[in-house]
Amino acid sequence: MNAPLPGFTTAPPSARVAPGSPEAARLAARLAAETRGELYFDAASRGRYATDASIYQIEPVGVFVPTSDDDVAAAIDIARDLRVPLLPRGGGTSQCGQTTGAALVIDHSKHLRNVLAVDTAARTAEVQPGIVLDELNAQLKAHGLWYPVDVSTSAQATLGGMAGNNSCGSRSIAYGNMVHNVLGIDAWLADGSTVSFGPVATLGTKERAIADFVRGLAEQHRAEIEAHWPKVLRRVAGYNLDIFHPQSERPYTSDGSVNLAHLLVGTEGSLAVTRSLKLQLAPLPRAKVLGVINFPTFYRAMDAAQHIVKLGPSAVELVDRTMIELARANPAFRPTIEAALLGAPEAILLVEFSGDDKRALVATLKRLVELMGDLGLPGSVVEMTDDAPQKALWEVRKAGLNIMMSLKGDGKPVSFIEDCAVPLEHLAEYTDELTRVFARHGTRGTWYAHASVGTLHVRPILDMRRDGAAKMRAIAEEASALVRRYKGAYSGEHGDGLCRGEWIRWQFGPKIDDALRAIKQRLDPTGLLNPGKIVDPPKMDDARLFRFPPGYRTIELQPVLDWSPWNVQNDPATERTTAPGSGGDTTGGYAKAVEMCNNNGHCRKFDAGTMCPSFRVTRDEQHLTRGRANTLRLALSGQLGPDAFTGEAVRDAMELCVSCKGCRRECPTGIDMAKMKIEWLAHHKARHGHTLRDRLVAKLPDYARLASRVPWLANLRDALPGAARLTERWLGLSAKRSLPRWRRDTFWREAPRLRLATRDEALAADKAAVLFVDTFSGYFETENASAAAQVLQAAGYTVHVATKPGGHYCCGRTHLAAGRVDEARAKARELLDALLPFAEQGIAIIGLEPSCLFTMRDEMLAMGFGEPARTLSEHALMFEEFLAREVRAGRCAPLLRPLGQRLLVHGHCHQKAFDAVRPLLDVLALIPDAKPELIETSCCGMAGSFGYEAEHHDISMRMAEARLLPAIREAPRDAVIVADGTSCRHQIADGAGRKPLHVARLLAGLIERKQGAIT
Ligand SMILES: Cc1cc2nc3c(=O)[nH]c(=O)nc-3n(C[C@H](O)[C@H](O)[C@H](O)COP(=O)(O)OP(=O)(O)OC[C@H]3O[C@@H](n4cnc5c(N)ncnc54)[C@H](O)[C@@H]3O)c2cc1C
Ligand code: SF4
Ligand code: SF4
Repeated sequence: MNAPLPGFTTAPPSARVAPGSPEAARLAARLAAETRGELYFDAASRGRYATDASIYQIEPVGVFVPTSDDDVAAAIDIARDLRVPLLPRGGGTSQCGQTTGAALVIDHSKHLRNVLAVDTAARTAEVQPGIVLDELNAQLKAHGLWYPVDVSTSAQATLGGMAGNNSCGSRSIAYGNMVHNVLGIDAWLADGSTVSFGPVATLGTKERAIADFVRGLAEQHRAEIEAHWPKVLRRVAGYNLDIFHPQSERPYTSDGSVNLAHLLVGTEGSLAVTRSLKLQLAPLPRAKVLGVINFPTFYRAMDAAQHIVKLGPSAVELVDRTMIELARANPAFRPTIEAALLGAPEAILLVEFSGDDKRALVATLKRLVELMGDLGLPGSVVEMTDDAPQKALWEVRKAGLNIMMSLKGDGKPVSFIEDCAVPLEHLAEYTDELTRVFARHGTRGTWYAHASVGTLHVRPILDMRRDGAAKMRAIAEEASALVRRYKGAYSGEHGDGLCRGEWIRWQFGPKIDDALRAIKQRLDPTGLLNPGKIVDPPKMDDARLFRFPPGYRTIELQPVLDWSPWNVQNDPATERTTAPGSGGDTTGGYAKAVEMCNNNGHCRKFDAGTMCPSFRVTRDEQHLTRGRANTLRLALSGQLGPDAFTGEAVRDAMELCVSCKGCRRECPTGIDMAKMKIEWLAHHKARHGHTLRDRLVAKLPDYARLASRVPWLANLRDALPGAARLTERWLGLSAKRSLPRWRRDTFWREAPRLRLATRDEALAADKAAVLFVDTFSGYFETENASAAAQVLQAAGYTVHVATKPGGHYCCGRTHLAAGRVDEARAKARELLDALLPFAEQGIAIIGLEPSCLFTMRDEMLAMGFGEPARTLSEHALMFEEFLAREVRAGRCAPLLRPLGQRLLVHGHCHQKAFDAVRPLLDVLALIPDAKPELIETSCCGMAGSFGYEAEHHDISMRMAEARLLPAIREAPRDAVIVADGTSCRHQIADGAGRKPLHVARLLAGLIERKQGAIT
């Protein structure tokens, strides 16, 4: 059915206007004068838009962020006048390079994201192209509706991008692909005119002429289309020339009518720029059940899929042995995955049935059980009918993929044949043979995803800097031969872009390829729109287009932190990595840590979680984890010019990073931008010097003792009229903020009243605990530290607080935040020496301020202290983590009075990053009658000293206003608010006029003294 191999076209994408040229400057000037959109023509911005989630990188001419339809229309006219290609863009999460190009990139995702209309009776919605799927579905939920093309990137994929790629979700077997759920598209053509594409019967004159033209081509090539067009549901290659004679097993429309909008779906921005989309919605299913089938071999799982789909599931998703093991290795997921397993299966299939009637679904689940018995696998199904375990298991499936993506070293799982689709009856042989292909090329792949439609994701590990391109070509050719043999589709989900464009001709044959070119010629005669995509694409292995081409180099850099765990190489067949420090990175591993960002765009999410607060309020690529990682990568590889690492572009990208560590936990590849920022800042400050404000903040632990002796003097800034404004001018501390109040009654003065144990007493005690009293708790919030000591003592612990002559120990956090790593290291060393004997004896080191405690747990591991730092890290616990652990182990039992008030909880970002919010809720739940309610927030916006800085005050308040402050204002006045972070409490007090409590204080106030307190 397919055309002969390989017939590739080789035209490279060419820029008619070079980035940075006078023509580009003219383009920028006209856009500035004639539109209200945002312009980004500097090298770093262009670099940030030069990549998507593929292996490619092409520098655009510039970036335009329109604020309105008028802006887009004007940009198209200006670009056409100046002969600059255009590249429309959504979230930039494409995997094939279709969102990269030497063009003017138009980013629709920031402003053009409205729902224009919803017709609940007709179940339709009209939307702008920049709206993200999850945002749309959140709005539709109230109507009991959803848009059911549930791509994995639902939190960042825009509807314009989904239409551009003809995206497909996990439930495509039930709902079809994007093309099956689009009713109309309004768009601009390259000549600037608008078209309204919909059912052919309703088209206007101009649109009808286009339809007639395409129909003519379709008629002319009807025999070729029927011979070459894959019949599987998952075919997204090329243009949909078959709209007049549909070839897929699922027709484009249910009534057989023709809709011209379907021609635009999957065109990757190469025929028109979408202005709005009319979408077919579906009722939200009221019930779901899940059957997890355990298979003794991978082959049998694949073989069973064709029989399972006959029961009408809404999804059949594969998780293979490797992923099962990855999930099992993660303590957070182990119980969930183990609940789904029977023995040690080689693969599991997650089979979901959904609908309105739960009883009917349960009956279908029973039929699945019977079917598996008939197939020789009795007792292989774990039935899940409750929502919670189902949801948990879907989360595990996603997390497994994330762990796979976090392989360190230059070899990476590369997406290029990861969505070939084959008919289900051949799935088992296809996967079997492809596995052998991988082995022949010295690599292997982990299989997952859409077994229901014969589209299994698999990414062989390739090193594009070395022999990756040759292996990619060889594997692609062997995989394509298999696809041909099984009459499948080479491009089944993620589009064509640069890595699959050349295979269009292979798939459909030269005549149809020419017909596609004719369509391009008709709609975009000057080749203005996303050139090099679908028609006349480059070769997939053109190394000039790679993000990491052979010969990729990084600058020489002596890192101040230890990045050696990233400085490794890996074995593509076993995924084992070499010893830390052996990877040959000229930056000691820092560059390789940065390169872990594969541009998947997950950090663009707005759902629960922290990442990324600065993007959540700005929606700017520059202020996104991905944008920062890309900027660092470009600077570290010299692509932004000499000394760029310590130059303005990186500084600007780092400016709004609040070091919340949201990315550390939530980025699938574990990008820890907070730590990367420390490294960068150290070099930046070494070149540019520290400001007075930097020093004032960094050295606070050093002068705290002195300041507390003369609090009236130290507090003058907030007492004297006009002083705040002066400090804003001199120091850059916002006059709109009060500063923390110094006081005489510090914890250190109060400590003698607390019956604290000496070092030796603690080391000798049965139940000992060391309380680490940080600068903030010790000097500004004595009550918190005292309360913690009292609660621990009441719980029966011998409590010791380590002090040194003439002062207190400090973790070095304030110095780290200012990039003063040497000073931080000196402080951390002292602290380590003081606390190590306790940790070595298994005694917990208990912290109250999350950012200080987690410095011990995390950053101190990268300071070159070796094993002792690891020992300390393992024993460093937040107060609530310690209590929760001890209660769980039966070593203490709380006796607390009821609270009698609503209880709201705000988690500090670092608590969230280290999964320490759950223990906080567990401990609060020990209060009789308490129902702690977690406020779903990102960062509070204060973030250490960030919110105090004059230039950041407004953005800090915007972060707080996103969710936190409104939630607090809505709570009753007498509700108790728990927040463990000093700066979070300050932000809540400033922004909502409420006084939150540290958990230690709340508990101390509720100790049931009559009954002997906590025992
Ligand atoms: C980890 C991961 C998982 C993924 N899972 C899936 C999945 O389950 N299913 C799936 O189908 N895909 C998946 N993808 C691929 C990708 O996320 C989807 O194709 C997504 O729909 C792209 O949306 P976007 O907003 O990022 O589009 P972009 O990447 O920005 O653009 C996609 C294409 O649409 C064009 N386009 C964008 N806006 C317009 C416009 N206004 N007018 C005309 N053309 C436009 C662009 O030029 C480009 O060619 C995944 C990607 C990753 C990284
Ligand atoms: S920073 Fe992480 S989440 Fe963001 S794009 Fe990169 S890898 Fe994805
Ligand atoms: S540390 Fe926080 S603000 Fe900085 S990039 Fe990560 S998520 Fe964004």
